[in-house]
Amino acid sequence: MERSTIVRVHDGLHARPATRFVKLAKSFESDIELVKDDRSVSAKSSVKLMLLGVKENEEITVRATGADAIEAIEALIGYLENPHAGLEDDGAVQPQKQDTGKPAARKPAQGLPADGALRGVAASEGAAIGAVYGFFPAEIKHENRPLAANAIADEVLRLKQAIATVQKRMDASLAETGLAESDRGIVAALKDIANDDELTGGAIAIVEGGIDAVSAVIGATSKIASDFATMDDPYLNARADDVNAVGRQICLALLGQEDVNLDTIAEGSILVAEDIGAWDLARAPLKRIAGVICGHGGATSHVAIIARAHGIPAVLGLGRAVLDLKHARTVALDGDSGEVFADPDAGITGRFQAAIAKAGAEKQALTAYRDVTPRRADGTVIDIAANIGSLEEIDAAKEAGAMGVGLFRTELLFMRHIHLPSEDLQAETYSSLARAFAPHAVIVRTLDIGGDKPIAGVDFPDEENPFLGWRGIRMCLDRPDIFKPQLRALLRAAVHGNIKVMLPMISDVGEVRATKTLIGECAAELAAAGTAFAHFDLGVMIETPAAVLIAPALAREVAFFSIGTNDLTQYIMAADRLNPTVAKLNDVTHPAVMAAIELTAKAGTDAGIMVGMCGEAAGRPDLIPAFIAMGLTELSMSPSSIQRAKKCVLEGSKAD
Ligand code: PEP
Ligand code: MG
Repeated sequence: MERSTIVRVHDGLHARPATRFVKLAKSFESDIELVKDDRSVSAKSSVKLMLLGVKENEEITVRATGADAIEAIEALIGYLENPHAGLEDDGAVQPQKQDTGKPAARKPAQGLPADGALRGVAASEGAAIGAVYGFFPAEIKHENRPLAANAIADEVLRLKQAIATVQKRMDASLAETGLAESDRGIVAALKDIANDDELTGGAIAIVEGGIDAVSAVIGATSKIASDFATMDDPYLNARADDVNAVGRQICLALLGQEDVNLDTIAEGSILVAEDIGAWDLARAPLKRIAGVICGHGGATSHVAIIARAHGIPAVLGLGRAVLDLKHARTVALDGDSGEVFADPDAGITGRFQAAIAKAGAEKQALTAYRDVTPRRADGTVIDIAANIGSLEEIDAAKEAGAMGVGLFRTELLFMRHIHLPSEDLQAETYSSLARAFAPHAVIVRTLDIGGDKPIAGVDFPDEENPFLGWRGIRMCLDRPDIFKPQLRALLRAAVHGNIKVMLPMISDVGEVRATKTLIGECAAELAAAGTAFAHFDLGVMIETPAAVLIAPALAREVAFFSIGTNDLTQYIMAADRLNPTVAKLNDVTHPAVMAAIELTAKAGTDAGIMVGMCGEAAGRPDLIPAFIAMGLTELSMSPSSIQRAKKCVLEGSKAD
């Protein structure tokens, strides 16, 4: 039997979503195939699946034959229709969508020199200078040695043992407690490649055809690697390096050799390699590595992802030029511009050292503001809060000194699950948040999901303009079966701390009133059931031009405003926030947007309610003084911006 659907998995069946899909497929006995454009592959091979190049919004057919075919098709179709399938549950770092893998044209970090340099892909930001640690393992030769007919069986056995050895090494690496969660995801993906029948079966078939195992592995891996390299997707192109790295490990096991070991790398070294496997880097002593330079790789390669996750500056994709660095003693790299200097002269060295010292000192100095309570010149406390989307982010927010949460995006909770999250699961999540930040406020935003980002359990209509469509409060009010469990969960969580609730995409006072009616019904239902609950402050996001223009009326209905500058800017400027061709118009500092913010602030402060901001602009030091002057008393931002914002408020109040 078979069923077709449109793939909604965010960014398609890339690495982790593909391997998770394969894992799910393997849990069924049936033979399962995925069919796209008349090409069909086994759904039980991650490599084959990735090579099929299944993208988001493409039509795909799942075909199954066997005893559990119905269940298999149901589960796999459910997976394909879930936008966040496979993306969130292993802590793995995902490539950033804007990464293109092409050499970046960004500015050099902190005014570093732009001439006399080798140039590669700026893969992980920051500058570094240090002694070269060359990682140039010997090349493994492709001999194509013919085997005698009676030697073939033994060679196949040797190959199988070598594959098992590599798998065991990867398992041991995965079992190490010291391995960062993000790296664990990457090693797991490599292990999947080492387990994949496309690679192992391909190599075994070559040996069975009478060729030695090392050559067979090189042959099989280079075929798969070149298939990846020719796909029209930079992320999949970068998988070619992963396949080669796995092949190399199998060859080394066949030859009884150990790979070059990074354990001896000295503190502050710059790792220079023609090619380095993600597995080698993940298990290296990363704290001692000041920078990474590599001939291969791009911004979406796993090496880049590991470097970024650990804050190590990296320039990749330098090509053959990396060989010029082999004999250099010192090297300087700028991960913002992609520039590399071999044995830099005193001038360049001085400039790099100054830039590194400046960045380090800035970061260190900001930690002094962690526990500061910033106030306006008149003594009013300005709450610098965190924007988060999951419980996993609580620690980072508290560590940064967040004075509560100014925006908890509940979408992730809904996208994470194949089914809608239950009221109990939601109550538990919101309660944990409230407890973690008490006595500070935690502002939970009710579900803000639109036609462009469907969730399992909700049928979204096809819309010409999803951003102007059935999203946020509009959808919630039409679906009380989804909205009321969330409101009841929030009422229950309010018992455990300072929960506040805000409504997204408000453009009419009636939407607030209708929500209040539902909250009243929810409270009555909880009371009737004898379930503990407490009332919460209700606020609205100001992110539509309509909300700005009716702000005085809205202020009479709610306890606070939170300005969502991301959407407000796109709607005021009529410039899609996701469309790079109109990015110039999407500017929060445009006088039209600043005027809208000021109008909102005035309406809120005139009515005596709290006015905050949770759009990206809230963390901008160049704008914070203006927002404070307008009367905003809460700014919510990504945890990494909190200390700088506290400093900015403090210095602003001293200057007043
Ligand atoms: C905003 O629009 O500014 C906002 C904070 O919400 P989101 O970015 O989640 O749409
Ligand atoms: Mg918004």
